Amino acid sequence: MVTFSDAKLSPHTDAISSVFNPGFIADGLIPNLEITSADDVHFHVHRRRLLLASDNAFGGLLRDPVFSLTVPEPAAVLNIVLNVTYGMFCVSHLPSLESIEAALDAVIKYGLPIAQLAKPSYPLYELVRSYAPYYPIEAYAIAAHYQLEELAVAISAHLLAFDLSRISDELTVKMGPLYFSRLANLHRGRMTALRNIVLQPPAMHPITPVCNEETQRELSRAWAFASAEIVWNALPNISTYALESAFTRAAASIKCPHCYIMLRNRIKEVIYQWSAVKTTI
Ligand SMILES: [Zn+2]
Repeated sequence: MVTFSDAKLSPHTDAISSVFNPGFIADGLIPNLEITSADDVHFHVHRRRLLLASDNAFGGLLRDPVFSLTVPEPAAVLNIVLNVTYGMFCVSHLPSLESIEAALDAVIKYGLPIAQLAKPSYPLYELVRSYAPYYPIEAYAIAAHYQLEELAVAISAHLLAFDLSRISDELTVKMGPLYFSRLANLHRGRMTALRNIVLQPPAMHPITPVCNEETQRELSRAWAFASAEIVWNALPNISTYALESAFTRAAASIKCPHCYIMLRNRIKEVIYQWSAVKTTI
């Protein structure tokens, strides 16, 4: 049974791709090649288009002039390969990450230019990236495995809160030591930057009749407690909002209006400095 939602069942048992059907026009031409997936879904495409894109005659399958061929990939995978080759998005539904990964293997096998097809804003790039919010480490490992640099960089922004000690051996091997250490360095770098930023207390204001150096130390102490707590608890993705709340809370008992101004100024600087710290590998 075909469970492939981008295909519609014909009255018989065979299914035809809803996009790559016999009426699928590209460059003003109707299809002249039928590719059948392992699960018997038929895709109607253009021989010349595939030959132009591939540097190995589509895995050698198009060396001879054929009009139909069968491939070992299931329809879900073949559909991705063909969509990205034609520069189209898989609009009907989001394929599974497993299918996307299998499609990347197929893209290489069929001699299609993977680096070119996975450039930012291209369909293949968007497909993998769409999984970044839900399966960030898996999507990152896939991008790293195929050395899709821009994709790996974009996905790494979703991994700031990820506990690196939880990465499975399998994913570590898949992404390779270079991309793993770049991720670890991103985490380390952000935590060091956070420490350096929050440790600096608000500046002192000139002595006033109600607030001398000694009373101003109350603010410095409150700041120091808050920053120690932040550094102890924070993940590399701590938000500027969380920093602002922590420091505002800690200094709630400050009565001096000048101290309060110094506090607000320092919080503004912290927010600015933390926003400027790199969020990707
Ligand atoms: Zn003061």
